[in-house]
Amino acid sequence: MKYKVCSMCSSENYKILRTKDYNRGNSNKIYEYSQCYNCSLISIIDTNIGLDHYYKSSLSPFDLTDKKFNKILKKNIYFLKYFNKFLNNGNILEIGPGFGYFSLLLKQNNFNIDIIEQDHDLCQFYKTKLNFKNIKEDDIFNAKLTNDKYDAVVAWQVIEHLKYPDEWILKIRDSIKTKGYFFLSTPNASSFQFKIMKSLWPHIDTPRHQFIYTPDLIKNIMEKNNFTLVNINWGIDTILWNRFGWISFVKNTLNIKNKIFNKILGNLLFLLFFPLESIPGYGSSFIQVYKKNI
Ligand SMILES: [Zn+2]
Repeated sequence: MKYKVCSMCSSENYKILRTKDYNRGNSNKIYEYSQCYNCSLISIIDTNIGLDHYYKSSLSPFDLTDKKFNKILKKNIYFLKYFNKFLNNGNILEIGPGFGYFSLLLKQNNFNIDIIEQDHDLCQFYKTKLNFKNIKEDDIFNAKLTNDKYDAVVAWQVIEHLKYPDEWILKIRDSIKTKGYFFLSTPNASSFQFKIMKSLWPHIDTPRHQFIYTPDLIKNIMEKNNFTLVNINWGIDTILWNRFGWISFVKNTLNIKNKIFNKILGNLLFLLFFPLESIPGYGSSFIQVYKKNI
């Protein structure tokens, strides 16, 4: 049965992947994705999912001890070092900052930070615990942005959640100053993990992820929207996502409740495939940095 054509390249040659919310277990419903044989885009087929239900998170940032928070904060210093290769000060917008580690490091290092986040609990956390002032509690896609304000916009692991990436990128572009930067990271549809785990690959994260791209597909979208690729990175962030992929894969497929067992087996697989996944292009996720054209 033909469902549609690939939304990126209009190819009719694709495979169907059936998967469910293994990562958070918010429902048992099966969702279908198409995997394009021509451009490798993975895209969700089902529409009208009622996604709000699936964003319920089990872990509140308020449950984290200060000690644990600071430990993870330190691990995020590599992001700051990478960022400092491009910018040392300025106005930064972070979209969907998670527990806020990266934004906090920027704030501690002389950057002015604006935040957009739709989760109420997280916004309260940024406000009360991390002392951020400029927080917009709003939908990532619909939030209003000020034109020509930012030296950089940062969106780690965001673009794969969006149904209409082109419109979103246009909006972001308007908010960035000329020659300003756009930093993103996203799962890699041509990764080694996806090749072997297929519909069980944790980075499909159904139904939250609408599209999984390859580095080339993101580059095409960004270039079409007047950005130039200035850097691609397969470093520590990729390695941590590879590790997350293996541990989650073990947890989701073996369905063993023993956290320590999952972690040990996941780490063993991670180490076993480490040399292969370290090859640029093979990792589970990548960072790209773009510069806004004049
Ligand atoms: Zn395609």
